[in-house]
Amino acid sequence: MSEMRDILKAALPQADERALDRFELYQRLLLEWNEKMNLTAITDPVEVARKHFADSLAALPYLQPGTKVIDVGTGAGFPGVPLLILRPELQLTLADSLQKRLTFLETLLRELGLRAQLVHGRAEDLGQNRLYREQFDAALSRAVAGLPVLLELTTPFVKVGGAAIAYKGDAAEELEKAKSAAFLLHVQLRQVELASDLGKRCLIFADKKAPTPKAYPRKAGTPNKKPL
Ligand code: SAM
Repeated sequence: MSEMRDILKAALPQADERALDRFELYQRLLLEWNEKMNLTAITDPVEVARKHFADSLAALPYLQPGTKVIDVGTGAGFPGVPLLILRPELQLTLADSLQKRLTFLETLLRELGLRAQLVHGRAEDLGQNRLYREQFDAALSRAVAGLPVLLELTTPFVKVGGAAIAYKGDAAEELEKAKSAAFLLHVQLRQVELASDLGKRCLIFADKKAPTPKAYPRKAGTPNKKPL
């Protein structure tokens, strides 16, 4: 068995042989394409397996088969694509503002034999578009923005009763700062701590209690400049 396979097997105990085949291909394509374009600063295969693949799977227990999910600011596909590898029946949309990342993702999905919708655009614009606004059970995001900004970028995609789910490290300070954004966006925040050997990791759930007011998200750039 290849060394790469052993690394993936150790990092991803929940993956069966078919899923491991896909992770192996993902790892190879990610590192190959990364030489031509900036996809990830993490290039050591063990670190890719742990910090990208295994970390991305943290939301898996919260996504039932068939759940309609958008990954906002997916970059090279994290967390959406690892989740899709283990749950191919997810209805997944991958959104990013950088077209070249979507070009990578299009090739990746074709090679993996998996289906997802790819959307190019800024979350501020997509969140005001009827095709995407309040259409998803969950909006995932990892390493995109601080929580007050992130709530404005992600919660408009979620149906009432669904949740935006943010992957975070130590989030105590961000949670405190996000209180007014949560109030204005009609979401309730809760933190789920993760058992991780990568230091402190958690998922922040923003449970949507009522529709997002029409004013949000504000125009592109404003959420970052003037966080709620
Ligand atoms: N989620 C991936 C991960 O965990 O590795 C990528 C993280 S990368 C640091 C942030 C990504 O978010 C980039 O691909 C960037 O293009 C995208 N992004 C940042 N702001 C965005 C916005 N307002 N709308 C859509 N995508 C955005």
